[in-house]
Amino acid sequence: MTADVAWASRWVHETAQSIADHRDELTELDRQIGDGDHGENMVRGFRAVVAKLDALEEPPATVGEVLKLVATTLMSTVGGAAGPLYGTAYLRASKVADVTELDGKGVVAVLEAALEGVQARGKATAGEKTMVDALVPAVEAAVAAADSGGDAAQVFAAAAQAAQQGAEATVPLVATKGRASYLGERSAGHEDPGAASTALVLAAGVAASEA
Ligand code: ADP
Ligand code: MG
Ligand code: MG
Repeated sequence: MTADVAWASRWVHETAQSIADHRDELTELDRQIGDGDHGENMVRGFRAVVAKLDALEEPPATVGEVLKLVATTLMSTVGGAAGPLYGTAYLRASKVADVTELDGKGVVAVLEAALEGVQARGKATAGEKTMVDALVPAVEAAVAAADSGGDAAQVFAAAAQAAQQGAEATVPLVATKGRASYLGERSAGHEDPGAASTALVLAAGVAASEA
C-alpha cells in the first residue's frame, strides 16, 4: 500500500466517520474533565472538511493539499482548544507532505510535524494529559517502524497502535494543561478526550490504507 493522495482523501473520510461514530464517547470523556463539547467540536469540524473536500472541482494534487484543507477548515469551524491545536498540527504536517505519495519516512515526517505543531501552539509536554500523550508515543513507534524498513502502511499502523495505548495511559494522569487542569487531582481517573480523538484520527489512517 502507498500513502498517496487518494489514501489521504480516504483518511479524511474515515476520520469523519469514526469521529461521528465515537461522538458520544468523546463527549462523555470531556464531560468528566472538561465542558462536554469535544465530540460535537470534532464532528462539526470533520463534517465541514468532508464537505469541502467533496466540493473541490479538481482533486488535490498532493497529500499536503489534502492536509492543508483539513487544517484551514478545522481552524475556522472548531472552536475551543482543539480547533487551533488540530489545525496547527495539520498545517505543519501539510508543509512536509508536498508530494503525491508518502513512504515510511514521509509518514514519520508528517507525524513529527503534527506533534511539533501541537506543542508550538499548546506548550504541553508528555505527561500533562493532553493529545501530546497520544502523539509522542505515535512518533516514537513510527520512527522505530521506519528504521526497520517499514512501508507507509506499516509505519502508520505502528503509530496508530501506540497512540491508542498512549491515550489509554492518560487515565491516571493529572492534567496540567487545558480545561481539565482546573480540576487538579480530580482530573485523574479519566481518559483525556483529545488524546482519545487523536488515537481515532490515526486509526482512521490505517482503515484508509486497508480500504
Ligand atoms: P475545550 O477544552 O476548549 O472545550 P475541546 O474540548 O475541544 O476544547 O478539547 C479539549 C482537548 O484539547 C483536551 O482533552 C486536550 O487533549 C487538548 N488540549 C487542551 N489544551 C491543550 C494544550 N495546551 N496542549 C495540547 N492539547 C491540549
Ligand atoms: Mg471541551
Ligand atoms: Mg469548549
